[in-house]
Amino acid sequence: MLVTADSACQSDQLVSTGGEFPKDRTTLAIRWTGYGNFELVYKGQVILLDAYFDRGSEYPTLGFGAADVRRANVILIGHGHYDHMSDAASVGIRTGATIVGATSTVERLRTQGVDAKQLRTVTGRGGEQLQFSGFSVEPVLARHGESPAEVTAAFGKALQATVRAPTAEQAEEQARIRARGSSDPRIGSEGTIAYLITLDGGFRILYRDSGGSITDYERAAAQRVGPVDLALVATSASYVTALTVGQALEYVHTYRPSVFMPAHHDAPYNNLWRPTEPVFQAIKDENPTVVTVSKGYSGSR
Ligand SMILES: [Zn+2]
Repeated sequence: MLVTADSACQSDQLVSTGGEFPKDRTTLAIRWTGYGNFELVYKGQVILLDAYFDRGSEYPTLGFGAADVRRANVILIGHGHYDHMSDAASVGIRTGATIVGATSTVERLRTQGVDAKQLRTVTGRGGEQLQFSGFSVEPVLARHGESPAEVTAAFGKALQATVRAPTAEQAEEQARIRARGSSDPRIGSEGTIAYLITLDGGFRILYRDSGGSITDYERAAAQRVGPVDLALVATSASYVTALTVGQALEYVHTYRPSVFMPAHHDAPYNNLWRPTEPVFQAIKDENPTVVTVSKGYSGSR
């Protein structure tokens, strides 16, 4: 939430779960709800970025569940892994929202009972400007994060040695949640989409839900549209701060945001949150005018 004069913008409750719309229709309300999830509200429209709300008992609660999400107009899914789309089908069916995603994402949604009329398949390779009420969306082919295996193996081993293993019930719960996502091998290079969202008032948002390297498609799109107002970007999963910072700076150099909000930096109890403060410091070392914002989970009351 960047505007705080309106009481609707001071509430933790999501508009999608029954919260108030901003009083001024042209106010943009932004709420982060864990991992790559954001709720954007603008001109009476509710836009969900990713849909992964029922994360299971190994995770801190968000304060609401997928079943509470009753209002959405458009859902943009960055990629099809379970931790980005596991609740997209149920929320889509309940709300009737249009759901946008890559082929691998939409193919999974088709098997989950979502009406084909609600689905929009995009490639991000150009010429796919989508017009909605109050805003437009340009999908841009991005790339999934590729963490160095030797680093993740070493950290994984250390974490396993120091935390309590999940119970059998928790393992089953996680398996059920994971099964609602996709493990399509195309996700890495063809199934991860960044979205350039342009509001009617001209405000431009870049959303990217995985911490992979910048593609030529992204570079070209960023050069064409110029600096964005707001970047909502995933924090890379590399554990090592220097790697995470390096990836974040590539996003900042490419998209040149005025405001930077990290995503995908939280974690289950048995893992580490990804660093945001070192990322913020590195961004400000280069350009002190960039505003960095990290809010707590919205939805809890
Ligand atoms: Zn992923």
